[in-house]
Amino acid sequence: MDRLVGEAVNPEQTAGLVCAHHHLYSALARGMPAPPRTPTGFQEILELVWWRLDLALDADTIEWSAKLGALEALERGCTAIVDHHESPHAIDGSLSIIADACAEVGVRVNCAYGVTDRHGSEGAAAGLAENDRFLSGGGRGMVGIHAAFTCDDDTIAAAAEMAERHDVGVHVHVAEGEADTWTRLAGHTADNWWLVHGVHLPDDHGLLGTIIHNPRSNMNNAVGYARPQRFSNPVGLGTDGIGADMLDEFRVAFVRAREHDVTTTPDDTWSWLDTGYELFPEARNDRVTWDYQPMDPWRLAYSPGVSPTTVEIDGQVVFADGAAALVDGDEIRHKAAEAAQRLFRKLENMT
Ligand SMILES: [Zn+2]
Repeated sequence: MDRLVGEAVNPEQTAGLVCAHHHLYSALARGMPAPPRTPTGFQEILELVWWRLDLALDADTIEWSAKLGALEALERGCTAIVDHHESPHAIDGSLSIIADACAEVGVRVNCAYGVTDRHGSEGAAAGLAENDRFLSGGGRGMVGIHAAFTCDDDTIAAAAEMAERHDVGVHVHVAEGEADTWTRLAGHTADNWWLVHGVHLPDDHGLLGTIIHNPRSNMNNAVGYARPQRFSNPVGLGTDGIGADMLDEFRVAFVRAREHDVTTTPDDTWSWLDTGYELFPEARNDRVTWDYQPMDPWRLAYSPGVSPTTVEIDGQVVFADGAAALVDGDEIRHKAAEAAQRLFRKLENMT
């Protein structure tokens, strides 16, 4: 049985967990001012909440949201994050800010800037340039596309070409809502693409790549259930920006799968955690020691509240005795709270 845990590893240990789809910029969103009116569907959630938040981001809030998100990942035994970023008024250099923030905390990250034509072709060009700049400088990442429905065909083609040139995949939201024009990705995809959500994909969609399932986010946005077990593509597990507690996301994924098909086993769902190592093979050697044993999916599916006691990344202890080892966690929380207040004031003043 595939356990994430190597033969020689103690029963209270696992490898580092991977969050296969995150938005670190959303770490400051909790407590944000209410939207101008209550969104009534997925499109309005984007327009009234997330597309206002990303407009308000600047270099400072990007940095503190990334540090807070990375710290909170570490505190839950998540040692590697696949991030998807957007900050239309602070594009240039944003991926390096995120990568540096994660490095400071000690968490591995794969960065992508989600290009979009929502702010015109100049905005799309700036997003493409940021992906190119980051990858050309040796940054670890993919080329990001927000989603087909907010991009022109030329932008999609340019992103696909850029990814191929850098020998990386494309990280893109696919069929999260019914309105996504995901068929326009056909002909561009490759096995190294990261296809996020896939809720409204037909079984025989024909797209190549790994499908990243984000059950809690899908429920929160009422977009439907992706039924990921129907796909022939590999399936990974992400949070879509709602923290990086992968044991918790595993439990949500399990009960959501059970609701659809009661024969689903914890091992079926646990295998989705394993898929993250496709991008972070070295995270298999990270060691998380937990306050519970054995770390068996059949127990963990029904055992909330299991926490790490020690996290080692690349042989280095980065979390022990309830605290991050490389950074001052209290200081990060304090500075992030101050940055959040600045962000909230910008949102309040936004028309
Ligand atoms: Zn997302």
